[in-house]
Amino acid sequence: MSTPEFILKSTFGYDTFNSLQREVIANVQARRDTLVVMPTGSGKSLTYQVPALMFDGLTVVVSPLIALMKDQVEQLSALGVPAVFLNSSLSPDEYQRNMDLVKSGQSKLLYVAPETLLTPRLISLLSLLKFDLLAIDEAHCISEWGHDFRPEYRKLADIRKKFPSAVCMALTATATPRVREDIKSTLKISHANEFLSSFNRDNLFIEVLPKREPLEQTLHFLENFQDQSGIIYCFSRRQVDELAAALTHKGFSVRPYHAGLADFERRQNQEDFIRDDVQIIVATIAFGMGINKPNVRFVIHFDLPKSIENYYQEIGRAGRDGLPSHCLLLYSYSDANKIKYFIEQKEEPERSASRQHLEAMTRYAEGSVCRRKSLLSYFGETFANENCGACDNCGADEVDLADITVPAQKFLSCVKRSGERFGAAHVVDILLGSKNEKVEKYKHHELSTYGIGRELSRSQWMHISRQLVERGLLDQEPAYRVLSVTAKGLDMLRSREQMRGQINVAQKSERVGARVKSTSSEEPEYDKSLFALLRNKRKELADASNVPPYIIFSDKTLAQMAAYFPQTKEGLLNMSGMGRVKYERYGVDFLTVIKSYCRENRIEEKYKTPRREKDDAGRRYMAVGDAYNAGESVPNLMKQYDVTADTILNHLARYVMGGNPLRSAEDLIALSNLNSDQQMAVFKAFDLLGSDMLKPVHEKMRGTINYDELKILRLCYLCEKR
Ligand code: ADP
Ligand code: ZN
Repeated sequence: MSTPEFILKSTFGYDTFNSLQREVIANVQARRDTLVVMPTGSGKSLTYQVPALMFDGLTVVVSPLIALMKDQVEQLSALGVPAVFLNSSLSPDEYQRNMDLVKSGQSKLLYVAPETLLTPRLISLLSLLKFDLLAIDEAHCISEWGHDFRPEYRKLADIRKKFPSAVCMALTATATPRVREDIKSTLKISHANEFLSSFNRDNLFIEVLPKREPLEQTLHFLENFQDQSGIIYCFSRRQVDELAAALTHKGFSVRPYHAGLADFERRQNQEDFIRDDVQIIVATIAFGMGINKPNVRFVIHFDLPKSIENYYQEIGRAGRDGLPSHCLLLYSYSDANKIKYFIEQKEEPERSASRQHLEAMTRYAEGSVCRRKSLLSYFGETFANENCGACDNCGADEVDLADITVPAQKFLSCVKRSGERFGAAHVVDILLGSKNEKVEKYKHHELSTYGIGRELSRSQWMHISRQLVERGLLDQEPAYRVLSVTAKGLDMLRSREQMRGQINVAQKSERVGARVKSTSSEEPEYDKSLFALLRNKRKELADASNVPPYIIFSDKTLAQMAAYFPQTKEGLLNMSGMGRVKYERYGVDFLTVIKSYCRENRIEEKYKTPRREKDDAGRRYMAVGDAYNAGESVPNLMKQYDVTADTILNHLARYVMGGNPLRSAEDLIALSNLNSDQQMAVFKAFDLLGSDMLKPVHEKMRGTINYDELKILRLCYLCEKR
């Protein structure tokens, strides 16, 4: 007899259930009617799909959106689970064929629109069968208090009476307490059978910026999202068209989406986006209802949304796959005034309600408390942490200033040496040692600054560049964004005076698009080139079977392959999202890509140890210390955890002070910019004053040695002493 865990691993390819998923499944197995309220992307579907595979009979899933039904059926088919749908999009023949598959028991799951389920034809079909589970998706449609009431949904209560032996599940991602009560009383679900998870989406970085030059701000933001999918929401059709044209002009792959376009064009644009043929959709709020694309990496609100409900739903379309994603709202008071103008044209009581919604929205945008905290409290949930670490307001409090003297000098000198004729992206290419055409054309691979910046990532370098512009060390010519070094910059290069700034978390005023990974969604650093190859392979296979790429594998699965380089069947089956059937269908294709890449680049498979569900940030220092001892360099650890050298040094210090020896100090001493006399002087000071506190040593050295250096040397000192 197969367990939910077995099905989870063998069919879906996942290692563990989220806590609530497991409880819901147990409740349904016990044949209790259940209400599931969980945010988008938290894995609601699995809570009825796993029971569906365990019950002998049929599971019927009611869904209001035709596009989503098709998507779910495609996803299940790719996993080898027999499922079909019935709705008005099918031809009579297709309809009959799907009916037959259900009748003969060849299909485990049947997706239907509510009005279809209510037809005598379907009711009589279901009466002939063993009908075990009725799952009602988007269950808030039952309630008149919900934002999306559908009268046919109310009638589902009657269906339940006709099939009393089927367990009933209601699932939704949006439900205020009132709507939840409504669902429970309509479907007669008891309070004890309600499962409510937090609405926090911890993989979303949430940011609000004052809207100044929105186009410039957007372009800036997009620098960090090359080739990554995203949605930009605008207030009006006109704004959509203008922005889409402006971005297209700048060379981005963009399509507009709004109610003014012809149906076929809208559908085509959406399809292109879902299939990764187009990178960005610029849309009015009409976009997103019927899409399930999991790898949306950013959502920008170019204009102010009308309510927090809208806003939360729209940012919720980012990061359904659980990978870090960024949400940016450009806020201006004049946008609020524009909306007010429309509100004043409305009749009561709608007018008052809309005013309240807008006020809440502006209060949120202008607020200085944690964005998460204020969003969640709006939905009646208390967020326990003071600092979420993944919103602009929290990031701003926690600005972690590091010594950026060396990177700043590298950058300035690279601008200078390349002749002050290029933008930041090209300078970063040189620093990273990229082999692109432009670098070669200008012979920039021959510069002494070529490849000297590999310790930082592209986005970290872009961020350094912005800080240099903002502090007047670099000048940026507005038309082509060409950088040149100012007199102040030259001074800095000559004097080598210390400069402090940010490497990761950006400050409020300057932070456009800097990304911060949330701690809980940490994935290992993956090989970007291999990822690109795997993505191409996925696209090729997807096009061949005429499905969106994410039906084949999620980005997360590819990222794991590009992090662990699995080269055997067992290794590949260890990747998240690699079920049995998917392995049989696509395993060899992907193994071939990985193997040849590893051969060319002399990379070996890394063993994937089962990860704890949530990396316990409190014990992160142990993981960092162990990894360092296993041979990881500090720059690698910085990349892996996406933190500054400073943070890594702090972890290592905690590790050592906790009584764990560190391997040799060689790698550490290399981080120091002091000469050996200075280093010796500091070591002597540690001998004299002890190494628990840095302040006495700092004073002893008369403030000539900064704390970053002291931290490095203390670690070396502690290593040597053991
Ligand atoms: P929802 O319906 O709540 O919006 P989905 O059911 O679409 O969310 O799930 C979101 C994503 O998370 C899907 O790609 C799904 O396969 C994945 N997922 C669900 N449960 C798990 C799990 N236990 N482990 C890993 N991934 C999961
Ligand atoms: Zn926060």
